Order: sequence, then structure tokens, then C-alpha cells
Amino acid sequence: MLTNADKFWNPLLETLPREKLQDLQVRKFRRIMAWAYENSKFHRKLYKEAGVQPADIKTMEDIAQVPKVEKSMMRNIQKKEPYPYGDMLCVPLERVTEFRQTSGTTGQPVYQPDTWQDWEWWAESWAYILYAQGYRSTDRVFIPFGYNIFVAFWAGHYGAEKLGCEVVPGGVLNTEARILKMQELRATATMATPTYVLGMADTARRKLGIDPAKDLNIQKITCAGEPGASIPATKKRIEEAWGAKVYDHIGATEIGAWSYECMEKPGGLHVNEGLFLVQIEDPETGEIIEEPGKPGKMVITAFDRIAQPCIRFDSKDIIMWHEEQCPCGRTFRLIKGGVVGRADDITKVKGVLLAPTAIEEVVRAIPELGDEYEVTVTKKGDTDDISLKVELLPEAENRKDEVMAILVDQLRVKTNLRYNISFHPYGSLPRYDVKAKRFKDLRKIH
Ligand SMILES: [Zn+2]
Repeated sequence: MLTNADKFWNPLLETLPREKLQDLQVRKFRRIMAWAYENSKFHRKLYKEAGVQPADIKTMEDIAQVPKVEKSMMRNIQKKEPYPYGDMLCVPLERVTEFRQTSGTTGQPVYQPDTWQDWEWWAESWAYILYAQGYRSTDRVFIPFGYNIFVAFWAGHYGAEKLGCEVVPGGVLNTEARILKMQELRATATMATPTYVLGMADTARRKLGIDPAKDLNIQKITCAGEPGASIPATKKRIEEAWGAKVYDHIGATEIGAWSYECMEKPGGLHVNEGLFLVQIEDPETGEIIEEPGKPGKMVITAFDRIAQPCIRFDSKDIIMWHEEQCPCGRTFRLIKGGVVGRADDITKVKGVLLAPTAIEEVVRAIPELGDEYEVTVTKKGDTDDISLKVELLPEAENRKDEVMAILVDQLRVKTNLRYNISFHPYGSLPRYDVKAKRFKDLRKIH
């Protein structure tokens, strides 16, 4: 019998030869651009000023000439008419059924309206993710979050239902109650931020005497919200703690859920090229990068999002194409190692470019250290000072010097920087559920 999942999954699209896929993408781009041109004052003005019309779009190179949209432009129009979204809105207000907003870690949040059609599109994009990660109608999925006004777990919830999974919303409960509920219901899968999923395992062991790898039935974990699941050392920690497969996905409120890891885990994530167009741009020349392994800025379009379209959005994410095709058979291209940085986050310390994820990779690869760490960059006189706090596990107390030597050496190799490192008792650094703030750059304040 055909299940929801079989009906949903469209292998024809996911395995389409590249040429055909690109033809489809150009046509879909032209269609969404025309929609925005006709229905939003913001887009019409943007395109008229640049002298491009939807009918001009015939190739990928034509698409690269279409002006980009940045988050700051979205912020500028919001709280204006039609209130509170502004004139990027392409539908009458009465067609809007969902309000969401960005989490605002980098400035004022952006409001995101969606119609019911958009909401079905969100569920579909998540169903691609979950199907590729082995979710089927036999799964019972526990989601340990109150979803609030943030889209990620709402969309994960609906995507899992669309596939035919049974979904348990675990909001309101505290961490201990969530673990006990997962155990009681024999949940087979969960979705969470990497930070929270590690914290849950820790709480289970220390407060409840439950070993998630042995005493729970979780077989797969889909991560969202932070880059951790694409950082090999963090992924390994989560997989060992839970005895489960850990998969990453990448999405954003103003874009959609555009990328996912499949069960082959090829060291990268597929771009959902049926629903999105991802172009990588050389930050200096603006040219499209096609060659693998060369990092650049992502410019992304969602083909089917209609209320507040996402067309040539400059996300500030730094990504690169993977050299290889995935053995899973999908022709959707892979990006290597997920989002490798954010144009905003990558910062110069002592004249050296530093991506904070590189520090996480080092800390979490050392088994004697706890999951948490904190990095603070300050200015002392004219020089940058970078301090790193880590937690030493109690069982490693007698090997302090040895652990310190490994840490210093690895940090030097991976980041080319020296740090003032201090050890702290296990459990003393702050814990986070979502959007951890482990990297603090205080140079701009003083
Ligand atoms: Zn694959």
C-alpha cells in the first residue's frame, strides 16, 4: 500500500539530470519574479530601477543580474503599510494565515507572513528533509520545544505529519519531564538544537540515571537552529550520547528549509534544488562560483513562497560546493560541511581570520572536556586578547597539564591563534537551549 511518504517523495525531481533541473529552475525563477513584480511595490521598484523584467530571464547568467535583497532592506519596510509587513507583501492581508519572526540574534527581528499555501510548502520542504533522513510513517517523533513565534520546529512538526509520522509536541514540560515522556512513549526520533540535545543527554544521565544510548529508543535526531550538527566533533558527541544517527538541516525564517543531510552522510548537505535556487557568489568579483571547494556568499531564491517572496536573498552565509556526487542517487548538489561561516561572524583577531566554529571543532574533539565553552575577545591597548573558558571533566582532573597541551596545540593548528585558556569545574559555564552565545566580541564596545 502506498503510504503518505511514498506519495510525497518525488524521486523524479530529486534525481533529475542537471540540465533538466536547471531548465526547470530558470522557469521557476522567472515565474516567482513575475509574481513579485506584479504584486509587490517593493519588488517592482527594485527591478524597474535595475532595468530588469521577468521576461528577460532566460539563463542562470540572467538571474545573476537580478538585484539582491538584504535583511536590512526588509527591516526598513516593516511596520509600514500593510502593517506590520510593509510593501514586500504580495497578497492581501486577509490571505495571511501565519505570523513568524526571525530570532533577532543580529539586530531587530524580521516579520514573516505566510499564506496557507506557503505553510503547505513549508511542510513539504521539511518532508524532503525527514524522508532523506529515514523518517517513515512508523516513527513517533518527540519535539522537545515550545515553538513560540519561531518557525523551525513548527515546520518540522507539520513536515513529519505530512510524511505520516506520529508527532508528540513536548513544549511546556521541563527537560526531565521531556526525557521521561520520550522513554514512556518509546519515541523513535527527535528534533532539537545541537546544544539542547547535548544538554538533554547530560540531564538524563546526571539527574535521572538514564543513559539515552541504552535506555531510550531514539534512533535519529534532526538538528536545527545552530551549525553544530555539521561540525564533526559535535555530531560525534551527540551520536555517542544518544546511540542515534544525527542529521543536520539548514533553514531560515525568511528563506525556508533549503538544505539537508541524507542517510549516506557524504560530508555535506543536499540543496533542495527543486524548491530553491542556490547560487554562490565570489565576495570580491560578484561572479557565480561553480567550482567545488571555493567558498563564497550564498544568494538564494525560494521558487514557491508567495506572501513575502525570497528572491535573490543575500543570506550572508558562506558555503562551498562539494567535489562529489552523493551515493544516495539524488542529483541535488551538495554543499561541503554545511554553512562554513557567516559573513557577519567571521572576524579578524590579531590580524587572523577566525570562524568561531573552528574553536568548537577543537574543544569538542577532546573527550576530557565538557560540551560548553566560552570565547571572549577584548582589546588590551592596541592588541586583541582572546580568552577561552572550558570545562574539565572530573575524571580528567589528574591529567590537566596533558589536556592543556593538546588544547593549545590543536587551537594553534586549526586557528593560528594563541588563547588565554582557563579550566572551570564541570557544569559551571552557562547552558543554553537555543541560540547559544558562546562567542563574545567585546572589542566594539570599548
Ligand atoms: Zn545524498
